[in-house]
Amino acid sequence: MNIFEKIIAREIPATIVYEDGDTLAFMDIGPIIKGHTLVIPKTCYDPVTETPDEVLAKLMLVCKRIAAAQIKGLGADGSNIIQNNGSAAGQVVPHIHFHVIPRFEGDGHRWNWNAKKYDSPAEMEKLAAKIREGLAG
Ligand code: AMP
Repeated sequence: MNIFEKIIAREIPATIVYEDGDTLAFMDIGPIIKGHTLVIPKTCYDPVTETPDEVLAKLMLVCKRIAAAQIKGLGADGSNIIQNNGSAAGQVVPHIHFHVIPRFEGDGHRWNWNAKKYDSPAEMEKLAAKIREGLAG
């Protein structure tokens, strides 16, 4: 059982903010910004590419509700909704989850959004062609 399944089974505690038949939302114990909430399905899927469309659709609707509740309840000015897949992407818990992180003007948090440049338009087009191939396949 992964740690989120233990939370679902109530084997370990969590501070739950929302629950329905399929979905649980609870406070992240290591908040990037206080109020950081995790949204998970009660059935374990991992990663996003293995998660059924209808589960993903439901998760995103709950994320939307949590983001709205952070605005209404916490006075947040915005939010980041983040979902990591694989250790290369920084994923630690192997159970699909969305991070809904409230953001406040002047909260001081800066993502290390280290934007790069393509060597040329041709390089970008070559990579786009490979993604189109992936979509077709
Ligand atoms: P990720 O790196 O996307 O896999 O994120 C996993 C998240 O789960 C991290 O932000 C952790 O702080 C959070 N986390 C791990 N264990 C717990 C727990 N027992 N209760 C709440 N959040 C947790």
